[in-house]
Amino acid sequence: MSKGKMRAAFVVEPYRIEIREVDIPQIGPQEVLIRVKSCGICGTDYSIYIGKYSRDFLPLIPGHEFSGEIVEVGENVVGLKKGDRVTADINMGCGICFYCTRGQKLTCPEFRQLGIHIDGAFAEFVKAPFTQVHKLPENVDFDTGAFVEPVSCAIHAAKAMQVSLGSSVAVIGDGTLGILHTQIAKLRGAAPVILIGKHPERMKKAELLGVDYLVDINKVDPLEEVKRLTEGRGADFVIESVGTSRTYELALEMVRPGGRVAAFGITEVEATIAVKPFDFVLGELSMVGSCAGVGNDWPDAIKLLEYNRVNPRPLFSLKVPLEELEKALVEVKENRDLLKVFVVPELSERVVL
Ligand SMILES: [Zn+2]
Ligand SMILES: [Zn+2]
Repeated sequence: MSKGKMRAAFVVEPYRIEIREVDIPQIGPQEVLIRVKSCGICGTDYSIYIGKYSRDFLPLIPGHEFSGEIVEVGENVVGLKKGDRVTADINMGCGICFYCTRGQKLTCPEFRQLGIHIDGAFAEFVKAPFTQVHKLPENVDFDTGAFVEPVSCAIHAAKAMQVSLGSSVAVIGDGTLGILHTQIAKLRGAAPVILIGKHPERMKKAELLGVDYLVDINKVDPLEEVKRLTEGRGADFVIESVGTSRTYELALEMVRPGGRVAAFGITEVEATIAVKPFDFVLGELSMVGSCAGVGNDWPDAIKLLEYNRVNPRPLFSLKVPLEELEKALVEVKENRDLLKVFVVPELSERVVL
């Protein structure tokens, strides 16, 4: 079994991260030990850092968008070996409850996520159950491997929405996920694909990746603009990828009668929205929630990256050493030009991508 120490970044209390020397995780018979090669920083990590999430689980090693190399396998592990380049599905259910037995583990009462409830990958090593682990194809590098998780989330939302050929999709939010949603919508044959945002640098990236229309809310009324681009009807599908009450209300105003809204952005726990049931009923609207990529969303995400159907490169901003995690969390929040930032434990200096 694994011996020795590793460096790991712990959120010990809100607004305090400590790099500690701790024991390398001990794996069980069904687990593998992974040397972390890259781990993306996500909005959720910032929420954990400021105490909005996972408070009951502190001290915690966050980090749930990771890739790495297997260095040890438990005795009951099949299909994986030392040296395999992998990522891992972070979502774990109990496996036996009402929800799990219906393939809905995201709603399992015992639902746990690696890096959110259980120690994650802002560390030199992380362990994971082998059934959650996915091998990376040769042409998918470690940063892209760490990007499988966000892509799987966008895929999950797209499947929930069931976008059809030639239908219009409006995405509210120009973050990494918002831009990913536009790429997946295009893959599903949506036309036009409209991105609503407010950060010029991010919008430029989306344009580079082939979004049909950019709607800058600092310059135009997004509702009027989306109507204008959809013959006055509103979009067939709207994805909310910001997480505020106002943008959720906007999504419901922006969808055409008979259309569907995907609820994706995570709001404050207590946030509510005003909905007119009258409009909802007479407009035959529907709304579907989508919380994470799970199950086959992961291999599907890997395939899209392997065959360059999704191009993540323009969304990669920076790589930083583990010791810079806290600084980077704040930077990502303050510098809205930054998109995906990766923590690479073996780096000693930051690299601009
Ligand atoms: Zn994330
Ligand atoms: Zn369960």
